[in-house]
Amino acid sequence: KKCLSLIKKTKYLNAYITVSEEVALKQAEESEKRYKQGQSLGDLDGIPVAVKDNFSTSGIETTCASNMLKGYLPPYNATVVQRLLDQGALLMGKTNLDEFAMGSGSTDGVFGPVKNPWTYSKQYRERSRQDAQEDSHWLITGGSSGGSAAAVAAFTCFAALGSDTGGSTRNPAAHCGTVGFKPSYGLVSRHGLIPLVNSMDVPGIFTRCVDDTAIVLGVLAGHDPKDSTTVNDPVKPTTLPSVPDVSGLCIGIPKEYLVPELSSEIRSLWSQAADLFEAEGARVIEVCLPHTCYSIVCYHVLCTSEVASNMARFDGLQYGHRSAVDMSSTEALYAATRQEGFNDVVKGRILSGNFFLLKENYENYFVKAQKVRRLIVNDFVNVFGSGVDVLLTPTTLTQAVPYLEFIKEDNRTRSAQDDIFTQAVNMAGLPAVNVPVALSSQGLPIGLQLIGRAFCDQQLLTVAKWFE
Ligand code: GLN
Repeated sequence: KKCLSLIKKTKYLNAYITVSEEVALKQAEESEKRYKQGQSLGDLDGIPVAVKDNFSTSGIETTCASNMLKGYLPPYNATVVQRLLDQGALLMGKTNLDEFAMGSGSTDGVFGPVKNPWTYSKQYRERSRQDAQEDSHWLITGGSSGGSAAAVAAFTCFAALGSDTGGSTRNPAAHCGTVGFKPSYGLVSRHGLIPLVNSMDVPGIFTRCVDDTAIVLGVLAGHDPKDSTTVNDPVKPTTLPSVPDVSGLCIGIPKEYLVPELSSEIRSLWSQAADLFEAEGARVIEVCLPHTCYSIVCYHVLCTSEVASNMARFDGLQYGHRSAVDMSSTEALYAATRQEGFNDVVKGRILSGNFFLLKENYENYFVKAQKVRRLIVNDFVNVFGSGVDVLLTPTTLTQAVPYLEFIKEDNRTRSAQDDIFTQAVNMAGLPAVNVPVALSSQGLPIGLQLIGRAFCDQQLLTVAKWFE
């Protein structure tokens, strides 16, 4: 009830698209009954959680923040949602995002942008000398899972699901001061996550501490017969040591990540963090990921190509929106529906993707990008093969920026740049986590990223726990 009242009090953040109050209260009642009757409880019994609005929730509107899916009631739960519910979690609602998770600001959804709760914090107000009444300087949350990040940061739930295709969990976690974890590709089921880039998408986890992430991961991880890309081996529960030890580990610092656009404050925290590891007995070495500079362009080609193919399902016949404007032919119906249903970002990506997939371009763009992806993956394989246990990098270039500043520049270029530290990880399917480390001189959260070996999620979270 406290969480529900906080959701109402923080409505101005626009973190939630749908608040499932009745569902949550009913689940809470059942949970309480189980407790009182001494029945065995699930790992998340009675724990309020929120879910990004691109995961299917049975009978609860699932919009992807798009006109295309407004009013769409899925007939089933995404596997991750079902697993949360099976362990007794309370579903507080569906959180806001960039339309179809395309973006890095949570500014591009049809329900309007998400506001960063830190905008209203005492620290930021004092240090940036913002007038508490003056709302025009509000900060973005980052994205695309900004609603989930804000929901956790504003204490409206204890954990939230996001999705992460190129950074969408880690980026808003960094801007909102929460833990934001992207599991290894294949560890957590994508069944029921409305796809952006199938070969890179993973469900992500937001919590306020690393131990909570480990508990949620334990609930979500493991084989799902409905997602053939999930691991077959049984997954052990994720239990983190109470006193984690990083001595003897080898921490890699990729030198290509030291880019000129990186803010000086984040740069200095990054190097202080490396010193901390060293002081604790870890070996810190500089490493090379030489194909990093191609990752944004490569991601663009692969992402838009998969988008062009994925978005073909939204044809006005099977799901959500159907135009009433032009029914003169099937093609006209498709065109009118898609014109009305998608925003410019989505349309732009469909057009780019179809261009890259044209018969005359396919070899030159799509196939080439796949080869570059392999080189980027091999960079990580080489580094981890040479004995590095975990990579330490920044998560974002800067702290959260004001909305007005974010939309001033060409938003899409800005979005692409913001993902520079996070995108390559998705191409390689590795686990990575944003850990909040400090407040900036303006009183805003700064996070750093740890990247682990594929399927060494437990080791990664152990290091993250030591680090937080
Ligand atoms: N910003 C990237 C994009 O727009 C990543 C988004 C995501 O991870 N969902 O494609």
